[in-house]
Amino acid sequence: MAIATTNPATGVVEKTFEALSDAEVDERIARAAAAARAMRATTFEQRAAWMNAAADALEADSDGTARVMTTEMGKTIAAARAEVLKCAKGCRFYARHAESMLAEEPADASAVGASRAYVRYEPLGPVLAVMPWNFPLWQVIRFAAPALMAGNVGLLKHASNVPQTALLIEETFRRAGFPEGAFQTLLVGASSVERILRDPRVRAATLTGSTPAGRSIGRIAGEELKPVVLELGGSDPYVVMPSADIERAAKIAVTARVQNNGQSCIAAKRFIVHDVVADAFTERFVDGMRSLRVGDPLDEQTDIGPLANEQGLRDVEDYISDALSCGARVLCGGQRLEQAGWFFPPTVVTGVTPEMRMYHEEIFGPVAQLFRVADAAEAIALANATVFGLGSNIWTQDAAEREIFVAALDAGAVFVNGMTTSYPELPFGGVRESGFGRELSAQGIRAFCNVKTVWIG
Ligand code: NAP
Repeated sequence: MAIATTNPATGVVEKTFEALSDAEVDERIARAAAAARAMRATTFEQRAAWMNAAADALEADSDGTARVMTTEMGKTIAAARAEVLKCAKGCRFYARHAESMLAEEPADASAVGASRAYVRYEPLGPVLAVMPWNFPLWQVIRFAAPALMAGNVGLLKHASNVPQTALLIEETFRRAGFPEGAFQTLLVGASSVERILRDPRVRAATLTGSTPAGRSIGRIAGEELKPVVLELGGSDPYVVMPSADIERAAKIAVTARVQNNGQSCIAAKRFIVHDVVADAFTERFVDGMRSLRVGDPLDEQTDIGPLANEQGLRDVEDYISDALSCGARVLCGGQRLEQAGWFFPPTVVTGVTPEMRMYHEEIFGPVAQLFRVADAAEAIALANATVFGLGSNIWTQDAAEREIFVAALDAGAVFVNGMTTSYPELPFGGVRESGFGRELSAQGIRAFCNVKTVWIG
């Protein structure tokens, strides 16, 4: 894929970039290796000062950064601005908590015949981050803030359609004061990833992206025996039971599906509603989806912007036509908007069966699948009838029922009476084909640390 900014609202290529040559990549890896030595010698206090300076910079130009993101991948300007501010918060969170999260942990010395025994967390060195375009700032920051605070060094291979955002992140950390080479953006295509990951100076990798990309990076990391975190796709269930607050469940369901123009790994994608409340929920949900304004993402009044690229739009159309040809029904939306850019309206599909591709795969666009079930057992079976396991949502006011769902949903997270989202304070990640490893919280910062056992006789 060409490395370029192509405005999804117009389809116009606004800026193109030359990919780095192998020699240029090697030079940057050498710089990263040197920076890793420098970073190891810095204190938490010093790194926290730089990280807080990065947060200050993000806050100071949240509008400018948001505009770049919206122009590159089409999210609404309000969502982009909120993402920038969330990133600043994420930087501050790790600036504040990294030291206590990575503090030495004493062990029972007498039990292991030592005078003293403890665990210390040490940085690994250069970490390769392969990132997607959908949250072009947040996906990177939620890797970079903990990794840099732990004393690691970041090498970012961002998605090819968000080069300006990628360069802006490098510039933010550089200006914040991090040592030369502590965080670098490599403008390269996906085909360069293998060579970088096999370089012995690169010590670990993290990928947020699709399951096929995850399989490829997981295989190479396995061969190279390098730790890897994989944050992959999802097709999250959103279960609504009779005791739920239906009004609220339907209102939040709309946001849960269409956030980020429908292109979020943790968007609710399969709505599983108990028969008793299915009519009431459907009416409110479909009304809510229909009422959204689709249009120019730079307009503050817009709810839904375009899909990020043309292929994404075609993929969504293919899922719909496949489902319709197998007997599904569209309750609203269903066809691209006839205008420049890659706009697809909020869509609700019902009558989805296992013969249809959308039943099994992830739809990356504002398309909701709506199912009716007779009881909790059927809801759980359907919710888990997927290869993915990222987030999950259950709406119920019945405490006993809540506990059953919390235990039974096979996913990396369960959100009860709310939509799945990410917080610096909570671990984030999936099971099965949604990947493995965790980002955020103390788990996320330890993912790229050597957990070193110290035994003193
Ligand atoms: P993608 O095609 O997998 O791309 C993600 C990144 O991986 C890009 O930088 C891409 O580079 C690179 N890449 C693609 N194929 C690769 C390969 N074979 N080897 C090495 N690198 C490769 O994913 P996307 O379409 O941009 O993003 C959407 C996917 O990401 C969805 O499945 C979504 O659910 C998932 N996602 C998951 C999370 C999570 O936290 N679990 C969060 C956000 C998104 P190029 O751009 O140069 O191709």
